Amino acid sequence: VDISSDDVPLVPSTLSNAEELIERFKFEVDIEKGLQNDQFYMIYQPIVQLADGRIRGFEALMRWQHPEWGNVPPDRFIDVAEAMGSVGLLTEFALVEACQSLARINRSRDRPLFASVNISGQDVGRAGFVDFLEHLLDLHDLDPKMIKLEVTETALLPEDDQVAANLVLLRQLGCGISIDDFGTGYSNLGYLKALPLTALKIDRAFAGDVSKNPVSRSIVRLLVGLGRELGVDVIAEGLEAQEDVEILCESGCRYAQGFHFYKPMLLPQLEACLSAERANHQDVA
Ligand code: C2E
Ligand code: MG
Ligand code: MG
Ligand code: MG
Repeated sequence: VDISSDDVPLVPSTLSNAEELIERFKFEVDIEKGLQNDQFYMIYQPIVQLADGRIRGFEALMRWQHPEWGNVPPDRFIDVAEAMGSVGLLTEFALVEACQSLARINRSRDRPLFASVNISGQDVGRAGFVDFLEHLLDLHDLDPKMIKLEVTETALLPEDDQVAANLVLLRQLGCGISIDDFGTGYSNLGYLKALPLTALKIDRAFAGDVSKNPVSRSIVRLLVGLGRELGVDVIAEGLEAQEDVEILCESGCRYAQGFHFYKPMLLPQLEACLSAERANHQDVA
């Protein structure tokens, strides 16, 4: 599979509403067919501890290899699936794959990694979601602490009681809850008070240009400080340049991910990276 291709198939935005609706229905049928025909797969981007550059976990990212359209970016099909109310199928697929991969990796490690999985607000609010995850964790004998659910700010409508109630249940189960793309959704931070969060992910829009943009640098310092005050982990996303890595490190940010460290990769490649890291570390010791 070619995971680097940037083909961008589209539901064209110039269509009339009726046409667009029909396109979306077709798209949804294609998603369901794609799930049945193994067109979806997960890739994993390592998350490192900034202090020593070692891999502590990974984020699971979904890919869709469509027979006609090629590689469809998740930003596109997740949006459509959410609009059609069928994102749950994709989320279950992501969780099943990520838990299986995590269990496989951690079987051969003394110090377990964590896995982050992106979740739509629709999933969190669904009755049965917590049970589904609990069963999956049991099946693979996974420590719930090693699963972090990533939700975006916009998914956390403070008035949605079902979402808030399920987040509490997920925390009681022991899973982590990370706010993805932090700072890009709302200017209203009220949900920080109301919801049981364990991590903030600083969006690439800020973390990815701290060395060039003084405003980004101020925002990053603010968010790292906020994380420290709240007692939650902070993870910087989208680090590509060494200068940005240094500034994030100095700011006290604990974790990072980005092309500077690793691109997302298939499971066998991730396992190879982990073996290489272990071999390197033993050389040093
Ligand atoms: P996200 O959760 O914020 O994921 C981070 C995105 O940044 C990923 O894009 C990743 O490949 C990209 N990235 C990481 N490091 C770098 C870097 O150094 N430079 C650049 N330019 N990009 C970097 P991706 O895989 O295209 O995913 C886009 C978004 O789609 C994700 O943003 C997430 O919101 C959504 N998504 C992906 N997989 C899933 C999934 O399984 N379920 C759900 N609900 N959403 C998903
Ligand atoms: Mg994410
Ligand atoms: Mg993000
Ligand atoms: Mg994003």
